[in-house]
Amino acid sequence: MKPESLMMSYGYNPAWSEGAIKCPIFQTSTFVFQNAEEGKAFFEIAYGKRDKHPGEKLGLIYSRINNPDLEILENRLTLWDKAEACAVFESGMSAITTVLLEFLKPGDLLLHSSPLYGGTDHFIKKVLPAFGIKTAEFKAGMNAEQIQELAKGLGKPSLVYIETPANPTNSLIDIAMCRKLADELSTPENKVHVAVDNTYMGPVWQHPLEHGADLVIYSATKYIGGHSDVIAGAVLGNAQIIQRIKVLRTFLGNMAGPWTGWLLLRSLETLKVRMDQQEYNASKVAEFLNQHPKVEKVYYLGNLKPEDGEQYAIFNRQCKGKGAMLSFDIKGSEKEAFLFLNNLKLIKLAVSLGSTESLAEHPYTMTHADVDDDEKNALSLTEKMVRLSVGVEHYSDLIADISQALDKV
Ligand SMILES: *Cc1c(COP(=O)(O)O)cnc(C)c1O
Repeated sequence: MKPESLMMSYGYNPAWSEGAIKCPIFQTSTFVFQNAEEGKAFFEIAYGKRDKHPGEKLGLIYSRINNPDLEILENRLTLWDKAEACAVFESGMSAITTVLLEFLKPGDLLLHSSPLYGGTDHFIKKVLPAFGIKTAEFKAGMNAEQIQELAKGLGKPSLVYIETPANPTNSLIDIAMCRKLADELSTPENKVHVAVDNTYMGPVWQHPLEHGADLVIYSATKYIGGHSDVIAGAVLGNAQIIQRIKVLRTFLGNMAGPWTGWLLLRSLETLKVRMDQQEYNASKVAEFLNQHPKVEKVYYLGNLKPEDGEQYAIFNRQCKGKGAMLSFDIKGSEKEAFLFLNNLKLIKLAVSLGSTESLAEHPYTMTHADVDDDEKNALSLTEKMVRLSVGVEHYSDLIADISQALDKV
């Protein structure tokens, strides 16, 4: 079956909970063992002291290690990306930082794409160097040879970390190229892993594991949660990699709580219909912006054409949808962009993305305020840019709102 058919029931048996059709919130810190031998066996597995015997399952111990709301959520999330395993976190940032801390050691080199989400960029540039980790950044459009050249002599390559499409310009990075690069940099003793922050495409429009990534990361605050009412994160990959992540998560204590797990189980039931509608609405909004005289340029995956060469080729190979994020340059600068934002009525002026309600923001002074001005300009992220996250409202109301706000400029 398709994942959307399984989101209401997969991994949960009503007989476990008095016939309740929905998985209840298991608001409990600890779980009772049937006997001491069982408790011992659960700890051996949870702490990675031995491998599971055939057919053996990790039982419930303590909600920092596992909890039914989290385990069922993790099982459901694996279906979208066809992953073996998943670990959920209390935020996207905790998912990202746990991956970085697990896969990077002093002397290692992290190769990452640019621009990255602001929080990730801060952690990489301001926190990791204190642990002796070297970093090198590359831009969309660079090939494996150019990136290898960048990495020369900087340290022992360990991890390639990318975001594609890039926020807020929608430029694409070829995941399969990153796999090839990581394989070329790997040695028999040192496998270089590839991690993809797939938040911008959610679990529906891009499946990085199919293109050779080892780890897929989500801020579940965005499309997965989808209602702007919860902060959460997830990491997916093979069972062995996720076991490593879960062991570190146990000791950092940054797992999601049962209430967060329950909210996300609820959200997953409508993930596909929400994202389908958002994608459709975004295509209508883009069509309107493409022909508007006050709009200079629209950055939208659905606008890619064969003339765009490599970007178009990557889009066709790698993306299953056009997304619901778009940015546009308004004719003018910060003044015109702010006038537009201040005059929106239905669309809310806020950061974040992927939710049921449409949002607008000014990347230059908001989400990307921390990136140097020179770097922003080099990425065509300028003061005239506005970013939109398109929600599930009727598209004609969204277009009417955008149209009246552009009229005020
Ligand atoms: C929001 C976001 C994050 C951080 O997630 P939180 O849930 O806010 O911690 C990471 N990456 C991307 C691409 C995001 O949009």
